[in-house]
Amino acid sequence: LLVPDDLSGGRPILLADAQARYLVQVMRRGPGDEVLVFNGRDGEWRARIVAAGKRATTLEVVDQTRVQPPPGGIVLVMALVKRTPLETAVAKAVELGVAEIRLVNTERTNADHTRMDRLEAIAAEAAEQTGRLDVPRLQAPAPLSRVLEALAGGGPLVFCDEAGEAPPILAALGGLPKGPLAILVGPEGGFSPAERAGLRARVGTIPVSLGPRILRADTAALSALTLAQAVGGD
Ligand code: SAM
Repeated sequence: LLVPDDLSGGRPILLADAQARYLVQVMRRGPGDEVLVFNGRDGEWRARIVAAGKRATTLEVVDQTRVQPPPGGIVLVMALVKRTPLETAVAKAVELGVAEIRLVNTERTNADHTRMDRLEAIAAEAAEQTGRLDVPRLQAPAPLSRVLEALAGGGPLVFCDEAGEAPPILAALGGLPKGPLAILVGPEGGFSPAERAGLRARVGTIPVSLGPRILRADTAALSALTLAQAVGGD
């Protein structure tokens, strides 16, 4: 369970209503039962249910079971796409170990209709389900140029470019040193010629192909992340 509380302090945890309902009514847990909790900072802890009732469900922290993994990993830079594929991409990227998701507006993205609170809830739920001890940071949509500036100097940018000559992603990834990596995926309408030229001219950008077919943006994101995770081993 993801809780906001400080876990190393030993203070009891008062569960939020939705989590209490899930634990008691869905998981059929009660006083004395143990659950695993994490807060994204202090690793994973074993906790015991002290009281479970309509008004409040409280846990006492028992001991730490896993230490917090070091920060780092892959940043997914994703152009805004329609709600369902965007939500799918966020959930699956979290399962695939992404460290951060930066949403970008490009010349061909739709207006900013993105509900960040909903995407954050999807990311938290995927982190709980997949047994991660951290919840990836989600950055609200920002212009592509600004996001590229923020990523400068932070490791290679793997640019998924279906429109031009580019080596297969596995060949490109195989030649990279271990370290921070960002993966860029465009919107349903693709990048504009000017955006593509700017990206290809940018130092540190590595254009890659995900194969001979045109993938939907969410498929492209998952495909690139899966291959990067397979090569990187984490
Ligand atoms: N140009 C596409 C078309 O003609 O339909 C539109 C873009 S595609 C739906 C969305 C994004 O997924 C692209 O901008 C690119 O980043 C990525 N993508 C899709 N297929 C790809 C491929 N075969 N190789 C590399 N990237 C791909």
